[in-house]
Amino acid sequence: MATAEARRVPGVGSDVVSDRELVVLGTASQAPTRSRNHNGYLLRWDGEGLLFDPGEGTQRQMIFAGVTVSQITRICITHFHGDHCLGLPGVLQRMSLDRVPHVVDACYPAQNQEVFTRLRHAALFHDVVNLRERPVTSGGTVIQAAAFRVEAKPLSHGVPAIGYQLAEPDGRRMLPDKLAALGITGPDVGRLQRQGSLAVAGQVVSLEQVSEPRRGQRFAFIMDTRLCDAAFALADGADMLVCESTFADAEAALAREYGHLTAGQAGRIAAESGARLLVLTHFSQRYDAGDGQLLADQAAAAFGGRVALAHDLDRIPVPPRRPPAA
Ligand SMILES: [Zn+2]
Repeated sequence: MATAEARRVPGVGSDVVSDRELVVLGTASQAPTRSRNHNGYLLRWDGEGLLFDPGEGTQRQMIFAGVTVSQITRICITHFHGDHCLGLPGVLQRMSLDRVPHVVDACYPAQNQEVFTRLRHAALFHDVVNLRERPVTSGGTVIQAAAFRVEAKPLSHGVPAIGYQLAEPDGRRMLPDKLAALGITGPDVGRLQRQGSLAVAGQVVSLEQVSEPRRGQRFAFIMDTRLCDAAFALADGADMLVCESTFADAEAALAREYGHLTAGQAGRIAAESGARLLVLTHFSQRYDAGDGQLLADQAAAAFGGRVALAHDLDRIPVPPRRPPAA
């Protein structure tokens, strides 16, 4: 049963509120169950909130999870089966009601523009949402933000479907000890970061002298698809990979027929693409809560990294950055 309080995944998170975390709003494919809402995920990433695949009931799940529609800055829809989009009308109406002032980008497969438009205007309301429609035709960069970019790639499902990868560029981490030793403080630090070098007391200090490489973080979101090259490409180097695992391995034929992945295949994608934390979700209603371990074990048989089984209202922190490359 869903509880009225969001909880953290044991062993995955800490009590410290993370600036980058996945808030799981729902984990059911096709039909909700007593313990699982339709899909829905809010990725909190610094000041941004990316809402992925808001299935039916997303508005209310957000209340249970303690997040608000004002936190949403982008909406990313993989495809227009109901479990991935029926919550959109409610979320948009709520954004209007709450007078969310900022622009919100909405990405979705362009082939189904008509469905998006219907959902956008599914009910009558005073519409003041500042929504920027970004239909995705063939993939590529769909969002270019100051601190990250989002790429999309077509997946292999029965209807047009896309997966997403959010990537932060590599950067540099300033080393306070080295800055202090050279007497660089205050606005000079920013100046050095922007210019790449700075004249200090008669000598030129380079950015490399007082900083170390900092790996950019990556997040990948792969929903309904068969195994395909795009899934591996999207998952490449992901610190957190959220991946559908509709079926257990025994149902591989069914998965293939309906354009889905098994838990073992999700594990294989994570392993071959060098992902770090694999979050399994989008479970068939044939599995109840007690089957979770089976699915997690099947993914873990293929993937040596961490596997988290998503539950509704989990908050799963994005793992700490990888150490700088040697
Ligand atoms: Zn689905």
